[in-house]
Amino acid sequence: MVAGHPGPPAMTRHELAGWLEATAHDLGLAAAASLPAYRTTAGEQAAWQAAWGAADNAGRLPWLERTLAARLDPFAGRPWARTVLVFAFPHLWDRPANLPDLPAPAAGAPAGRISRYACGPDYHLAARPLLAELHRRLETRLARPLRHEGGADAWPVPERFLAVRAGLGQTGRNRMLQLAGGRGCRFFLGALFVDAELPAGAWPTPADSATAGAAPPPCAGCRRCLDACPTGALHDDVPLRLAACRSYLSMEYRGVLDACQQGWLGDALFGCDACTAICPPALATPGQAVDLQWLLSVPAGDLRRRLHGTALAHAGPTLLKRNAAAILAGHPGADARRLLVHAAAATGSAVVRDTIAIALAHRRPEA
Ligand code: SF4
Ligand code: SF4
Repeated sequence: MVAGHPGPPAMTRHELAGWLEATAHDLGLAAAASLPAYRTTAGEQAAWQAAWGAADNAGRLPWLERTLAARLDPFAGRPWARTVLVFAFPHLWDRPANLPDLPAPAAGAPAGRISRYACGPDYHLAARPLLAELHRRLETRLARPLRHEGGADAWPVPERFLAVRAGLGQTGRNRMLQLAGGRGCRFFLGALFVDAELPAGAWPTPADSATAGAAPPPCAGCRRCLDACPTGALHDDVPLRLAACRSYLSMEYRGVLDACQQGWLGDALFGCDACTAICPPALATPGQAVDLQWLLSVPAGDLRRRLHGTALAHAGPTLLKRNAAAILAGHPGADARRLLVHAAAATGSAVVRDTIAIALAHRRPEA
């Protein structure tokens, strides 16, 4: 706890639980919790860094490593904050894919697949009204203006660690938050720091200390995600190995894809659902398939306009075209070769051109 908290708690633990439940229901949240300010220890930070290095991840996410200190100790840079509200919200997982501006392939034509959660409006944008409404309701409940800072994913805050610490669930073998109660991992997380002192509390209420020992850990007896991962990027008890992860390669890695990386990519145009679609095993709707011939020929400006407001804008035209070329590399036949040759001549991107050159060099001779 941070020393020098002002005044008594603004709500009792019991009142907070009721408020969280009512607010979460109204906003369509899956879970919400209040976590009083804390400071991480040097030991916790060293353990995280050691595990990150052991998974061969050092240097692979420069933006994450640049903000590591802030991530590992989120209250250190917010000395005004007394509490963080952390919440989980469902987004698109069980709705039909809805990216009408990205054409589907004809039957049998080469296709790339977009991860299910990205087949519609960007979840970062979906979090904004939730954060604004959560803040507004808390100010109303406490009857005073609150200094606050909120976000979801696109800021240096470790929402999953906060959620675990707040009692919303545990980190599963797929390295995502497993919501308590066996509700799986297909949720997004957001957090709202406020300068009000609130007691710790969560909705749904986590198992208390008297029963926590009886509840099995979320992954007990289960290895579905490890078995489902197509590239072996997941291992027990170490962070996800980014180098082999389709999500990382398709969305975060910005360089030329070598032959090995092209093989790992499979048909992943943007993201990979293999380790989340089976946790819990109920996801019936696959991600959207996109016509690769169209994708490689559409002008970058046109594509950028079509991506606006979706999570795919994070990748942008260059990465999507690079990924399209890498996926196409795995397609046999002269048509795929012709598409690659044409795309190499048409692109203004060295990353796309060099990825295609590697793809062409490693293709089997046409029959
Ligand atoms: S699929 Fe099984 S092992 Fe993997 S995170 Fe989910 S519960 Fe845990
Ligand atoms: S996103 Fe795909 S490649 Fe990455 S760990 Fe999960 S299943 Fe493996």
